Parts: sequence; C-alpha cells; structure tokens
Amino acid sequence: MTPPVATGAPDATGASSVLALREFHPFEAHGARFLYMVPSAGIFRMDDAGCAILDVLARGPRERDDLIDELSDLFGVDRLLETIDELTEIRAIGDPAAPTQQVPNDLPPEDFPLNTMVLNVTNKCNLACTYCYEYGEDKIVDTQYGKQPKFMSDETAEESVEFLLAESKGLPVAHVTFFGGETLLNFPVLQKTVAYARRRAAEEGKRIEFSLTTNATLLRPEIIEWLAENQIGVTISIDGPKQVQDGLRVFHNGKGTYDVVLPKIKELLAVHRTRPIGARVTLTQKNMDVLTIFRHLTEEIGFWEVGLAPVTTQDQRDYAITPEGKDDMMRQFEILAQEWLEAALRDEHHGFTNVKDTIEEIHKGVSKAYGCGAGLGLLGVATDGDVSLCHRFAGSPEHTLGTVADGIDREKQGKFLVDHHIAAKTDCHTCWARPICSGGCYHESHVRYGDSSHANLHYCTWVRSWTHTCLEIYGALAEKNPKFLERFD
Ligand code: SF4
Ligand code: SF4
Repeated sequence: MTPPVATGAPDATGASSVLALREFHPFEAHGARFLYMVPSAGIFRMDDAGCAILDVLARGPRERDDLIDELSDLFGVDRLLETIDELTEIRAIGDPAAPTQQVPNDLPPEDFPLNTMVLNVTNKCNLACTYCYEYGEDKIVDTQYGKQPKFMSDETAEESVEFLLAESKGLPVAHVTFFGGETLLNFPVLQKTVAYARRRAAEEGKRIEFSLTTNATLLRPEIIEWLAENQIGVTISIDGPKQVQDGLRVFHNGKGTYDVVLPKIKELLAVHRTRPIGARVTLTQKNMDVLTIFRHLTEEIGFWEVGLAPVTTQDQRDYAITPEGKDDMMRQFEILAQEWLEAALRDEHHGFTNVKDTIEEIHKGVSKAYGCGAGLGLLGVATDGDVSLCHRFAGSPEHTLGTVADGIDREKQGKFLVDHHIAAKTDCHTCWARPICSGGCYHESHVRYGDSSHANLHYCTWVRSWTHTCLEIYGALAEKNPKFLERFD
C-alpha cells in the first residue's frame, strides 16, 4: 500500500480484536485501487493484501485472527499483520464499536490574514442577463434603489487598499479582484487604484496582484493595453457561441452581445500576453451544450481556459437546471475531464479549469472546514466601503462584516465562522465528499434556503459524482504520469 499523498493520522482505536471497515471512499484508476480517506483527505494506493483485507471486511466485521486465517493461503502472516496495522493507522479499518471520527471544531485564529479582496467598483451594469444573481429575480441587494452609490469613489478604493494592506499582515502577496456590475464602467477608479495599490504595497514591502471580471462589451484598445501593461488577470463572462450568447447575455434593449464582444475579445487575446485570459460560463437550462460551448470558446475564440458553473437560482425559474439537465451536464463534464486527463498524460495543457481546480485540491490534501474562503481569507467590498462575505453579498446588510474605514467587526465575523463551520452542518458529517465540499457556496445556500449557513443539499449527488471523477483522474495520473502532479505542489 503506497500513499501518493500521505496525510492519514495515527489511530487510537486499533487495539480491538474485532475489525471492520471505517470511513473512506474507494476508487479505481488504471487498474489500481485507491482509498480517499475522510476527513484527512489522504489518498492511499492499495496493494493486493490491502485489497483482500478490505474485500473480506466488506462482507462484515471479523476477529483479527479469523481475518488472518481466511487470507493466510494467499499472503504470509507477517505481510497480513503489517497491512492490517497500516490500514488501522490510516483509519481505513478499526474497531466497529469505536465512535466515528468527530468533525473537528477548529475555528481559525482571529488574526487569520486577508488574502483576496474583491472590490465591487460599481453595481451598475450595461447588460440585462436574465439569470443574473445581482439584478435578476434572486437578487439579494437592491442595487437600483438601495443605499449604495452606483460607483465606488477614489477615496473608498484607496481606503480599501489600506484595509487590505493592514488585514493581509504577514503575507508577501495579496490579491485585488475588481468586480461589478460591469467593472469597466468604472475604469478611471481601476486605473487609480492599481497605481495607488502598487505604490503603497511597495512601501510596505509587499506585492499586490490584480485581476478583474468583465463582460467585454466596453473593452477598447487603450483599456486592453493598460490591462496588458499592468499584468491584470482577466476573466470574461461569456456563455458560448452567438446563438447562446445572444439568447442570454443581452443589452437593456434586448439586443444580443456576441457581435460586439467577439472582436474585442480577439483583440484582448492578441494583445494581452502577460497573463492567461479565461472565460467564465454560467450554465442554465437554456445553454446546456457544454461541449459545444467549451470547444467554441477554446478552439474558435482562443481562450486559454474556461470554467463553467451552473446558475445560482431557485428551482421555479425557467432557466434553472432540471435534474435531467444536471445529469446531462455531468455527462459532458466527464467527457471534458477525460480529455483533460489525456492531455495531462501527454504533458499538455487543456483549458477545462473545473477539473484542474479540483485536482489541485485533491493533490494538496485539502480538507475544508468551510465551503470557501469567503468571510475569512476573502472579503467583498461594496461601492460604499461596506465589507461583506464576498462580492455576491456586497451591500447586503445581513452579510456585512464591517467597513474598510473601521475594519472588521470581529464579533460578527466570529459568529459567522461558528455558524458556517462544517461542524455546524450536521447533514454533511457522514458525507465522504466533505473534505472538498464542506457544504458549498454560501450565496447558493442563501438563494436556495434563505440561509447562507445551510448545506447545499440539492447539489450532493452532483458534488459526489464530480469528486469521484476527479479522484479517478488523479489516480490515473498518479499511476501513469506522476510528474504532472508536481505542478500542483
Ligand atoms: S460564497 Fe459562493 S460566490 Fe462567494 S466566494 Fe464563496 S463560493 Fe464564491
Ligand atoms: S453539501 Fe452534500 S456533498 Fe457537500 S459536504 Fe454536505 S452532504 Fe456532502
């Protein structure tokens, strides 16, 4: 039994003479059998003796001596004993009467540094995409008549930079992501903020990296040049070929945006070579042809990478993805995941970021206490300087954790961290996918259940299926091209 990622913890219950299977998720890849350990997130490759022991215990608990007797024709006793010890140590097997491992209630320290600040430089948008979480039927903040200004001012942006510098203490690099509304509607503030942040970061002996998300309609030559010169990472929100894009991503007068954005994106891709440019697709019931969308964006337009995310919405919306739609989406994700694997086996790039991101988490042995970094290492800032969980909650009083001027309300943040911890999500405590999922996105929960701390139970089947696929891919790479995985170290 060899561990590609050895993160198993020692077992305190191995003394019992009766042995049974404990908590893990088995998977196979390239003819080998692996265990994904929960909650440690360690991965172990099983040898013949390990497989045989697990197969016997899969039929029910055994006395240790009976187990050895049953397998002693196939393996030497020493080898069996050694393997039993190893399996016990990683908690794959153990005393059936021992309590299952508690979900740890390990809250992060109060001075946990802020790594990423998402600045909502405007809450205004020049498009009217029907499914938009910010303006559509499921919006949580009234950006039209609410209290926030439409645009972030220079002063608030500078205060935000100072807030990030203060809150990212100890980190050599911090990240600013510009967001909207349509981010480029406030291009003057972007320019001033980048210049200010660069100067202030240098004074503090720190580096700040920048990225932004845009719908591409307002890109023009001088903006593209500025993005390239300043090495700003760019993500373009786009939903696919003309027919798809024009059906979903439209101007306020209903006109489609494809013909407007295509030449601008092509120019961006040609000129901006300092950072890879990615596309971000929102999948709805109205654009479920994942393969066509992916191929159009990578092969025909030329995006380096494409990430696809199902729309966040309630079931009754006509663009909400149906259960059959989710199955179809998974089938297509699996095809792309196989293509990603084949490319990785040849040491080649493949732009499907969904698989890359999950493989990276698996490789790093990530075992999450929280669905994402929101409210902790990542915070959103609304146009008026209110600090919220993330960009999707910017301006929502219920999800505000302070202001950039006055800092984080530690009491409120502390309560958020307790309420949203995996320990509080009892539905997730027996789920093998919890190291990767940990209940999922808070915004999705808020839209679905009216409560950001609720586990996203409507996506469990999808999450488990996807995690299993990625584990298989990880196992195949570990078997056939382990060097490729080093890029995720
Ligand atoms: S809460 Fe959801 S939208 Fe916000 S950062 Fe987390 S995963 Fe992203
Ligand atoms: S939300 Fe579902 S898939 Fe995610 S950890 Fe909880 S039970 Fe598992």
